[in-house]
Amino acid sequence: MAHNVYLETFGCQMNELDSELVTSAMRGMGYQFVSDPAKAQVVLYNTCSVREHAEQKVWSRLGELALRKAREPRLVVGVMGCMAEREGEKLLKRMPVVDVLVGPGELDKLPGLVDNAIRTRLSLLDEKETQELLATPENERPDVSLLLSAGQVALAGQTSRRSATLAAAQDTLELLDLSRAISPDDLAAKGGAGRAAYVRITRGCNKFCTYCVVPFTRGAEVHRPPQAIVDECKKLADAGVIEVTLLGQTVNHYRFEHGASVSVGGVIQPQKGRAYGITNDPSGDPHRGESVTTFADLLHMIHEKVPAIKRLRFVTSFPRSFGNDILQVMRDSPRMCRYLHVPAQTGSDRLLKLMNRQYNVGEYLEFLDRARSFLHQPEIGRPLTLAGDIIVGFPTETEDDFEATKVLMRKAAYKNCYIFKYSPRPGTIAIDKFEDDVPDMVKRRRNAELLDLQDVIGKEVMAEFAGLTTDVFVTGVSKRQGRLTKARIAGEQGLEMGHVHSHAHTHAVAATTTAKPAGVSLTIGGKKLGGGDGNNDDDRGCAIDAASTIVGVEREDERDAMVPGRGGSNTPPTAAGPIQMSSRTDGDVIAFFDLPQGMSPDDLIGTIVKFKVKRCEPLALHGEMVGP
Ligand code: SAM
Ligand code: SF4
Repeated sequence: MAHNVYLETFGCQMNELDSELVTSAMRGMGYQFVSDPAKAQVVLYNTCSVREHAEQKVWSRLGELALRKAREPRLVVGVMGCMAEREGEKLLKRMPVVDVLVGPGELDKLPGLVDNAIRTRLSLLDEKETQELLATPENERPDVSLLLSAGQVALAGQTSRRSATLAAAQDTLELLDLSRAISPDDLAAKGGAGRAAYVRITRGCNKFCTYCVVPFTRGAEVHRPPQAIVDECKKLADAGVIEVTLLGQTVNHYRFEHGASVSVGGVIQPQKGRAYGITNDPSGDPHRGESVTTFADLLHMIHEKVPAIKRLRFVTSFPRSFGNDILQVMRDSPRMCRYLHVPAQTGSDRLLKLMNRQYNVGEYLEFLDRARSFLHQPEIGRPLTLAGDIIVGFPTETEDDFEATKVLMRKAAYKNCYIFKYSPRPGTIAIDKFEDDVPDMVKRRRNAELLDLQDVIGKEVMAEFAGLTTDVFVTGVSKRQGRLTKARIAGEQGLEMGHVHSHAHTHAVAATTTAKPAGVSLTIGGKKLGGGDGNNDDDRGCAIDAASTIVGVEREDERDAMVPGRGGSNTPPTAAGPIQMSSRTDGDVIAFFDLPQGMSPDDLIGTIVKFKVKRCEPLALHGEMVGP
């Protein structure tokens, strides 16, 4: 019997990609994905541990499911991702409603474990027991979840950091990436979103920033073989993808040494990153050469071998060891985006040390200057845009440290910046070494001040775009347009807005939806986005971390275009008046324009067109389409 699965994703793009890969593997096994958890026999959460808030949401979801399981004892519940790895089997003890626990390094095992869990639950609960249970009044039922967790567990523990001999074993997680099913029909059904895809190049992290849980949950840095990455890009391009975002926690540290590569069954295995130490040699990766594929080499390879990828971008960059070799490839490759997300975290040298970031403010700003000198070319319609991450309220942060962060932000001139309040995470170095001594009120105040500051900086940065003609990737019909259309129909039909939602069969309302794979939804900042009926008004995302605050993103017309490939639909509205399209520049700036007369949204969605800037706002450009 085909089982219905509901999968909800919390957190970053890595998690989004993991969810996509797991979905495709499970679909191949006959599972169907649904957007309504109530209709699912299997409920899965792909979790994030970077800040406490993201975990709290999952705990509360699990609490709700425990009640449901008392009524539906066959329900299978799975927790995957960073929270599963961080909490380990303690999570099963605290929440026995959970049947399946899978860390991010073991996701290839998830489909098999879910299968086992379904069988285990059936065998634990025979028909008679189930009937008896269901006949018992709800408040008298035993805690069946406590008695009957199927206990299917796959966690990496500390094994991922053991010696290189382990690398000789087959990397089964790589098989999950390699088996990615890409169907042109599925992509076409997603509209603009289907034309943009993530490709993982590096897993894990070796940096051990003292506040961060990622090296513990995602394990050691592992680089995928370059040919596997190029092949995946080709497969995506053949299916219609035109924008690829390469993913890695410190993406610019990618390096694959062919001399040390290991093959199992003819498949070259991913390779652990070696501890060469971090250099800041601007001339490039000191290990480049014939038997090494550096990050610069990889970018060049993808650019040259897969020209159908019209936009190649990557996140997240680490501010050290970003050589001129990478900047040169970016400058000389017309299809490479002029966008860098390069977190500073703080403007205080003292705190950078305590955070173990391995650079100082001077080096960080030197890198930005170097990047600008290579890549900032507004005169040819190709400015460089920068995004940053800042943590406020790191232990011992003084007002002077905070002021230094403001100075850094002014000098960095980010297009947008993700501001986080420090959240002490169990298992990290900082929680053991430093007291969380900045009061929450102070963290909140500093957070708000930086948001205001970034608003001003963002306005100045965007003002530079005035009059520019540049390429934009059309992601869909803008949300504001969708709302206007909705409101118009509501007015015409005498309906409340809420009723319009339930009349989603109307042609024009369908135009407001964001096509996504059924049942795969994303939760950002605790709010469930998309999935469902795709008509969620809070459809916004962030480049690296979902629970962040995005400066200026509250304006509704910008939300749909914040995440690569998101936004838009396949269906043209029928309502009269110009239709506003949303798009992104190659520097990840949102751009709105009216649909030219005689065209339908489908003519443009998922394509790249020429756009002339007329008006600049802090996070968005308004203008007109001036050519294909
Ligand atoms: N690897 C990327 C880098 O180092 O630039 C960032 C990955 S991390 C998952 C995303 C962001 O979350 C970080 O840049 C940092 O600003 C923030 N972050 C990580 N741990 C945090 C913590 N304990 N409290 C607050 N913010 C945190
Ligand atoms: Fe975390 Fe990024 Fe530091 Fe790695 S480099 S430990 S992912 S903040």
